[in-house]
Amino acid sequence: MTTRSVKVIAKANPAQVGDGFFIRRPMPSAGIDLGELSPFLLLDHAGPTVFKPARTRRGVDVHPHRGFETVTIVYQGELEHRDSSGSAGKISVGDVQWMTAGSGVVHEEKHSQAFTEQGGTLEMIQLWVNLPAKYKMTAPKYQEILADQIPSVELNGGQSTARVIAGTFGGKTGPAVTLSPMIMLDIRGKAGEILTLPIENGFNAGVYVLSGAIRLADGQIVEEAEIAQFGLSGNIKFELLENTKILLLAGEPINEPIASYGPFVMNTAAEIQQAIADFHSGKMGVLA
Ligand code: MN
Repeated sequence: MTTRSVKVIAKANPAQVGDGFFIRRPMPSAGIDLGELSPFLLLDHAGPTVFKPARTRRGVDVHPHRGFETVTIVYQGELEHRDSSGSAGKISVGDVQWMTAGSGVVHEEKHSQAFTEQGGTLEMIQLWVNLPAKYKMTAPKYQEILADQIPSVELNGGQSTARVIAGTFGGKTGPAVTLSPMIMLDIRGKAGEILTLPIENGFNAGVYVLSGAIRLADGQIVEEAEIAQFGLSGNIKFELLENTKILLLAGEPINEPIASYGPFVMNTAAEIQQAIADFHSGKMGVLA
C-alpha cells in the first residue's frame, strides 16, 4: 500500500484551562481548522506540569457540554470528575475517561484529592470528539476505561507498542464504545525504529507528538506539541528520531455542518441558541 501524503503539520498554542491545566492546543489552530480532522475537534495537551502539595484542588469548575464527547487520557498524575448525570470517577495513569455529553451535562474536572495533597507531575490529553447529528442529543454516558482494560499491540515485533483505546488495530479492539468509526492509539515508539501503520482508507488521520520527535516519509519532522495531519488513503509511515510518545487519531469524517460556541458543538446556529437556553434553564442538570 502507498504511504499517506502529509496535509499539514500544525503547531500548538499555549493556553490555560481553569486553574489546573496548562495546555498546548494544536487543534483547532492556524494549521487545522475546527472539524478539519473530523471527527476530532480539539486536542488539549496539559502539562507535563509539576504541582506542589496543596490543600485546594485545582481544575475546572462546573461547566456544560452538548453535542460531542470529551475523552481524557491521563499520562501522569490523577484526576477526578463528576457530572450532572450522576457519574463520577477517578482516573489515574493509563486510564481513559470517555464522556458522551450528548444532550447535555454539566461537570467539573479537577486534580484528585490525593494528587493535590501529594503534589507531583500532571500530564493528560483531552480530546473533543464530534458526534454525528443523529447522536448529538443522545443520553449522556460515561465510560471509565482503566489501563488494564486497554490491549497493547507490539509494533514491528520490536520495542515500540501501541495501546488500542478505540477501534481495531493489529488484531486487537479497544474498549471504547464510539458513535462513529474511529481508531485511537497510545503509541510508545523506540528511537531508531520505522513504523508503518495501516489505517482504513477514507479515514482522516493525525499523529500528535507528546514528547520526542519523528521524521515522516516525505522528510518533514514533527516535534513535540505538533500534530501531523495526513491525506485520506495509504499507510502512515514515520521514523522515530527519539523515544517518542504519540497519540494517533483516525476516523471516518463526519461530513455535516458544524456550529460551535464555547462548550457546545451542534450543526446549526439555532441549535446553539437552544443549547444556551437549555443550559441556563437547568435542563442540562445541576451538580449537587
Ligand atoms: Mn469539560
